[in-house]
Amino acid sequence: MIYLICAILGSGVLVAICVPLFRKDNSLESAIIEETEWDLLQRKKEILLGNMQDLDFEFKCGKLSDTDYQQVRSEMRADVGVVLEQIEKIEKTLDLDVLIRREPGARKPSAKSAPQTACGSCGAKNPPSNKFCSECGARLNRS
Ligand SMILES: [Zn+2]
Repeated sequence: MIYLICAILGSGVLVAICVPLFRKDNSLESAIIEETEWDLLQRKKEILLGNMQDLDFEFKCGKLSDTDYQQVRSEMRADVGVVLEQIEKIEKTLDLDVLIRREPGARKPSAKSAPQTACGSCGAKNPPSNKFCSECGARLNRS
């Protein structure tokens, strides 16, 4: 019976750990990666906490020995701690990202507001990203 419980709990934890890893790769290009990761971590946390409640229940029913219970529970607590740490880390950066996303112009300087570089040779205005003048081909000196 204990082996069965361990197998069920173990596979639950394994799925909870593996699923976000696969999802992360797939959604790497996504702009909402922080929210997706956060959602997955929340789900992972709920699964782990659920597993811990199951474990407590099994222990109270006398299906687990004290040693087994303490060992499995401490492992679960460690897992929950890692997940909570990751959630906290994401939440710390989330506010900033949300602000950046609300202002599309804040992500990359727009061509309109960016200071133009005047060509030292012909005086033509060039975008700051240009290394050479688009009019005469002279090298642009950037201050
Ligand atoms: Zn020029």
